[in-house]
Amino acid sequence: MSRFFSSRYAALIPYTPGEQPQDQDYLKLNTNESPFPPSPGVAAAVAEQCGKLQLYSDPQCAGLRRALADRYGVSRPANVMVGNGSDEVLDLAFCAFAGEERPLYFADVTYGFYPVFAAKNRLPYEVIPLKEDFSIDPADYFGKNGVAVIANPNAPTGLALGLDDFEAILKANPDGVLIVDEAYVDFGAESAAALLSRYDNLLVVRTFSKSRSMAGARLGFALGSEALIADLETLRYSTNPYNVNRMTLAAGEAALAQDDYYMENCRRIAAIRDKVAGQLEAMGWKVLPSKANFLFAAAPGMGGGAMYQALRQRGVLVRYFDAPRTRGYIRVSIGDEAQMERFMQTIKEIMKEAAQ
Ligand code: PMP
Repeated sequence: MSRFFSSRYAALIPYTPGEQPQDQDYLKLNTNESPFPPSPGVAAAVAEQCGKLQLYSDPQCAGLRRALADRYGVSRPANVMVGNGSDEVLDLAFCAFAGEERPLYFADVTYGFYPVFAAKNRLPYEVIPLKEDFSIDPADYFGKNGVAVIANPNAPTGLALGLDDFEAILKANPDGVLIVDEAYVDFGAESAAALLSRYDNLLVVRTFSKSRSMAGARLGFALGSEALIADLETLRYSTNPYNVNRMTLAAGEAALAQDDYYMENCRRIAAIRDKVAGQLEAMGWKVLPSKANFLFAAAPGMGGGAMYQALRQRGVLVRYFDAPRTRGYIRVSIGDEAQMERFMQTIKEIMKEAAQ
């Protein structure tokens, strides 16, 4: 820390992203990326924009917002805001809606960026523990009237709530905002977007990083009432009106035009996930029932840290969260069939050695 770093941030502990080694020797199952490349139209759309980089991107993101409004059945582009990854959307949403009068509420085991955004923006927050089985009890969020943030499916557990649960939370918080972070929803959970026409205090946040194979392009978006979206736009225009570059805007539109490709990939990943879950369970692992593109799983007789290290030594990267409730587990992103075969082979080797 330099002697000039503002005292506001003296205690700030930044988020730790999953490793992104630059050599290609690792099997990367640690950041929930898609194993599949973007659809063919994306590269051409990006290439076209490369010749126009002397021009700023459209600050209104009009084409992409129109396409997203059509895709998600919200009435108008005014119901859509786009950002530089859903991380940026979440950061702006926390700033827009939370504060002394309306604290943030989120789970003890959830996306690690939530407490970081809260701390950076000096927003008060309350942590609500998950139940013993890692599920969320919707009733814990009733009557808070703050800003509840729920990842659905949750990360790193993969467990999902249903629409009834979200409706109950919305009904019990008429003066609060509910942010549903749907980074992983396309892999098998129900989208809360179906509730948007009836609740003006619901914000659904989504990303192109996982189900649409565009983690490197940085594209996220929010769906919500015109009033909520207008607030996000006020902050976006007060931060960076060109937050989404023109290559990414074009990539997003091209991806939506070929959405069947991505939805088919999601079905394939979900099938691989369920198969791997069954194989691990057959070997005595405890595997949470995941609706996401990852599994949260604990090996018999071996802690998550030891398993993470053993996998890493054999060239397989997974994620391990060194905290009391998560220490027994690793989080494994679901790759394609061949990658998961290699993962299972490596697991078998490790377990055989540990048994000797
Ligand atoms: N929400 C959750 C639950 C996530 O796991 C992630 C990915 N790390 C994000 C949001 C952010 O994704 P991105 O910024 O790539 O859209």
